Amino acid sequence: MEHVSVEKIIEFVSLDRLSESDLAMTREVNTHLCDCADCRRRVRAAQALYDALLTECKTRESARQRLGSELGETLERGI
Ligand SMILES: [Zn+2]
Repeated sequence: MEHVSVEKIIEFVSLDRLSESDLAMTREVNTHLCDCADCRRRVRAAQALYDALLTECKTRESARQRLGSELGETLERGI
């Protein structure tokens, strides 16, 4: 399986309520995370960033948007 894409990481950490397709996606990502330290590190970084943004942004939607723009930079720096 390929690594989890940035788009999928964003979706994964910012899920609000789980629909059936989200559940399938979550399962797929978790299965990959179990075997891939690289993606675990990236998802953890994204999760920490999103949690911080949630406290700063008024809505989940704006937190998610900022996560999208800031995560690319964060991952490029290799954090
Ligand atoms: Zn991976």
